[in-house]
Amino acid sequence: VKPVGRTILASTIAKTYISEVEDGVRKLGRSPKLVGFLANADPAAKMYAEWTGKTSESLGFTYELRVVDKDDLEESIIDANEDDSVDGIMVYFPVFGNRQDQYLQQVVSLEKDVEGLNHKYIQNMYHNIRFLDEEEQQKSILPCTPLALVKILEYLGVYNTLLDYGNRMYGKQVVIVNRSEIVGRPLAALLANDGATVYSVDLDGIQRFTRGAGLHLKRHKVEDVDLTLEDVAKNADVIVTGVPSPNYKFPKELVKDGAVCVNFSSEKNFNPDVKEKASLYVPMTGKVTIAMLLRNLLRLIDNKVANKSK
Ligand code: NAD
Repeated sequence: VKPVGRTILASTIAKTYISEVEDGVRKLGRSPKLVGFLANADPAAKMYAEWTGKTSESLGFTYELRVVDKDDLEESIIDANEDDSVDGIMVYFPVFGNRQDQYLQQVVSLEKDVEGLNHKYIQNMYHNIRFLDEEEQQKSILPCTPLALVKILEYLGVYNTLLDYGNRMYGKQVVIVNRSEIVGRPLAALLANDGATVYSVDLDGIQRFTRGAGLHLKRHKVEDVDLTLEDVAKNADVIVTGVPSPNYKFPKELVKDGAVCVNFSSEKNFNPDVKEKASLYVPMTGKVTIAMLLRNLLRLIDNKVANKSK
């Protein structure tokens, strides 16, 4: 019997957001400039840089890749911060592979941080604060990979648009296998802030992110739970994986009939036969992430305009 489940490609999902971005550039009437900093010899980072360059140029942006020595990176970021012709900045990590990378990320100015990794943006996200100003004219920037996953779930119809904005994941159970600071933990917070019950699975255990019964809390709370992957997977409407290992496969037998499965790891964390259980399966997400990066860049420009007209 042919499985009911369908594979949905990131390129298909990205199309909606790409045309939105193209429209944005057209309305702006000029080519926004994105500068990428490459300070490592990692071939994956180089490939990602090439992809961002290609995509941004094809959508009407100007992209400049600056290859710098890692010891000159901080000064180079500061130069770009101060250069009015640069609208957005991104850095391809890892550079030092330790906490210095976190420091360097914070050197990128708030106004140019297309990846949405500035402390202010991250803190707003965890606290479910969606605007930068009291007048609610300037939207806070969301970190682009977690944002891409939210947009993917919207596209797949997991978000219920009949519910109010901010509550559209109400009643949904989500399992996320990855709790990194870059993707897994912010994603758990975002989905829980939108109303989902999220089980965040890590090597050390499982945490539950939720706004409580009837979504009575304004923002999510987190608790450690004494449950197994099997316990949480059997009720999961959505399973998101991000395990950076080629040997890891999410066990198909734990996937509930009709669940939505999304993998953001560069390794395939599901076997394709997951479609025997899943309704929708998204094997990779990188193209949507790039679309979000450019969407964030346009939002930074909007914010700058709103800020100036104050
Ligand atoms: P990371 O190494 O910082 O985090 C990995 C997380 O997975 C950790 O929380 C770890 O505890 C958990 N984990 C590892 N093995 C596990 C297991 N067997 N069971 C449960 N949890 C386990 O990595 P990261 O920065 O989050 O990146 C993860 C992957 O996502 C990488 O492959 C990376 O290339 C990819 N990535 C993709 C995008 C995109 O846009 N698609 C963006 C960023 C990262």
